[in-house]
Parts: sequence; C-alpha cells; structure tokens
Amino acid sequence: MTTQIFRGALFDLDDTLVDRKSAYDDIYRVLYDRHEAIHSQTPWKDALEFFWTLSPDNATSPREAFIEIQKRWPGVTGDPESHHEFYFTQMIKIMKMLPGAMDFVDWMNSTGVNWGVVTNGDEFQVEKIETTGLKNHVPFVVVSKFFGVDKPAPEVFMEGVRLLDIPDIQTEEILFVGDNPHTDIIGAHGVGMKTAWIHMGREFPDDAPYPDFIVAHVEELKVHLHRHLDRSGEI
Ligand SMILES: [Mg+2]
Repeated sequence: MTTQIFRGALFDLDDTLVDRKSAYDDIYRVLYDRHEAIHSQTPWKDALEFFWTLSPDNATSPREAFIEIQKRWPGVTGDPESHHEFYFTQMIKIMKMLPGAMDFVDWMNSTGVNWGVVTNGDEFQVEKIETTGLKNHVPFVVVSKFFGVDKPAPEVFMEGVRLLDIPDIQTEEILFVGDNPHTDIIGAHGVGMKTAWIHMGREFPDDAPYPDFIVAHVEELKVHLHRHLDRSGEI
C-alpha cells in the first residue's frame, strides 16, 4: 500500500494547533474563583465537568454558556455580553500553541508544504494567532466571520483552497486537519478533501463521515506531507 502524499493541507486552529482545551480549563477556574455563588456550593471538579458540557463538539458560544451558568447558579452576576468579553480576553491572555505544534509548523515551512489555517470565529482568532506567535509562521489564515460564513459551509473551505494557490489543485489532493467532527470533518469531506481528525481521547461520532486519518497530534501527519515538493506523483 502506498502512503498518500497531499499537495496541500489546511488546519483548524483551536485544539488542532493551539491549546484551547487547557485555556478553557484556566478561564473557568478564574470564573469559579470569582463567583462565591459557584465556589461556595460546588466543588471545582463538579463545576469543571459542568463547564465542559457548555462546549459541545469543542466549540463554544460564551453568550449561550453564560445563560446556562446563571440557570445552574442563579447568584452569578453579569450578563452574556460581558461573559463573552471575559472569555475571549482571558483566552487570548493564556492561549499557547499545543506542545510540539510550532515545531511541526516550522517543519512544514522548511519542507515547503503548502498550508494554511481555516478557523471559525472573529477578531479574537486573529489575536490568538498573535499571542501564540503563530502569526509569523503561518502562510495565511481564513477567519470565518471576516470571510462571511462559518465551517462547515463549503465556501470557507474553498477560500482556503484558493489561498493555497497550487496550480490545478483538486480538493482530494488536500488534507484538512481538525478536531470538530461537525464543522471540520463534515465540511472538508463535503468539498471532497481528505480529512484527519484530532481525537482528543474521544470516539468519533456516528453522524459524521468517518475521517481518513485519526491522530492525537498533527505531527503524526508528517508522513502524508513530507514529499510535497515532488509533484511528479511518484512516491
Ligand atoms: Mg477546533
């Protein structure tokens, strides 16, 4: 069996290249410590478990999350808008690359892999790219709210294809890497890309097309990218 080598690769950002999971835990620890209505009645472990239920699919809407938090602990003060601000401001302060992810990115750059990022979100995504230092290493980033539609809409994936700028590229020659089955994998599969799913210890759900690769970390995908410069099709 030959190993498929892709001519281009597109990456999700959160929990694919940057460590949103750790940042999420830290943000909610700050919230927990701030609100007596929470920490006076609920142990941290139970509260954290609840906070993670507010982030299905590793995606989150802090405004909606706040409504659930107030339902669970009615003494919590504030409003959805200020929670949204708090969440992303904290997130940006503490966001880091996943261990090894910057080395992987630099390896792609030195090997000549054509790649870029397609992420759902707004200006906070741009700030994350700056705080983590990724900004100076990434060829391009498509941020969905600036582009106009979120993953899994096909248009935002095709914008990534356009920016890869590879002559005569077919979508099946591109690998899309992400942790969210319902935005990353469904969307990329829908436009004909091959897909790699970052499992984060989860089972792949049965309501999304099964990914071509399941990995714990992006660096496991090197074998599918390393001969990118050889355009002859020979392996
Ligand atoms: Mg993600």
